[in-house]
Amino acid sequence: MAGSVTFTMIKPDAVSNNHIGAILQKINEAGFTIRAMKYTHLTPESAGKFYAIHKERGFFNDLVSFMSSGPIVAAILEKDNAVADFRDLIGATDPTKAAPGTIRAMFAKSIDANAMHGSDSDENAIIEGNFFFSELERF
Ligand code: ATP
Ligand code: MG
Repeated sequence: MAGSVTFTMIKPDAVSNNHIGAILQKINEAGFTIRAMKYTHLTPESAGKFYAIHKERGFFNDLVSFMSSGPIVAAILEKDNAVADFRDLIGATDPTKAAPGTIRAMFAKSIDANAMHGSDSDENAIIEGNFFFSELERF
């Protein structure tokens, strides 16, 4: 049976600190299969669209500016219970509160530069995956 999918981004801090390889290894070791992957660079406009759900939050402008500050890696990952298991793997939003061994505990420096994105629901995983990948690219 096919597993469910989640969507992730390796954020600009983790890309510029050369953590792509180590992070992909942890993702594979945790049992996720990479179904689509893209190295790209968001514009402020595209980062604003991606994070539109947060546009009323005080940190929105900083978030958009950070997410468009350098290249990212976007990917669709497959595993049973992908959304919840991936959020467990990346750890809490604030890396000082992330459990030891999680990706944010290992690679994130601050709540804004927190190394990874992970979808928060099955529905958002599909919306976010479609934001970066076309039907043709996806499978
Ligand atoms: P993500 O959506 O990136 O996986 P998350 O679901 O853990 O993270 P959200 O509440 O969706 O957290 O916030 C999106 C992003 O906005 C966070 O990853 C973080 O980079 C930033 N952010 C969230 N809360 C704050 C805050 N209080 N101050 C600064 N940045 C924040
Ligand atoms: Mg979120």
